[in-house]
Amino acid sequence: MAIERTFSIIKPDATERNLTGKIIDKFESNGLRVVASKRVKLTRDQAEGFYAVHKERPFFGELVEMMLSGPVVLQVLEGENAIAKNREIMGATNPANAEAGTIRKEFAKSMGENSVHGSDAPETAAQEIKYFFKDEEIVG
Ligand code: UDP
Repeated sequence: MAIERTFSIIKPDATERNLTGKIIDKFESNGLRVVASKRVKLTRDQAEGFYAVHKERPFFGELVEMMLSGPVVLQVLEGENAIAKNREIMGATNPANAEAGTIRKEFAKSMGENSVHGSDAPETAAQEIKYFFKDEEIVG
């Protein structure tokens, strides 16, 4: 299996409840390594640009406000099959449908406040990593 990198965000609903360590533990104990990390307050431009693919969706405004409502932790995760593995560790978008043991099942408050973002494919992973990190900020 290929060693991949994927992009992750610990969202404001999770930083607010001090769940950063518990969420990182899920990544690390499932074989993913944090190779870059920064805690920031996103700007409106960054949040709107990041979620531009959802611009026409009815939840876009709410999604951007949620991402601006507190600090986030941006991370690059590395490991075998990291993109799919991270999606598995996160669980379904709607926590009501997420499998037991996943981050969203254990921690998400709702479909909107669902604690984590994770890239869904190799192309988006590469784009999203580049959107927030310079090469020299990633230390494998
Ligand atoms: N979202 C929402 N309502 C919806 C669908 C999505 O608030 O009906 C939010 C939710 O926070 C989700 C994000 O928009 O994580 C991006 O949606 P996507 O379908 O890409 O889900 P993900 O890849 O995060 O599982």
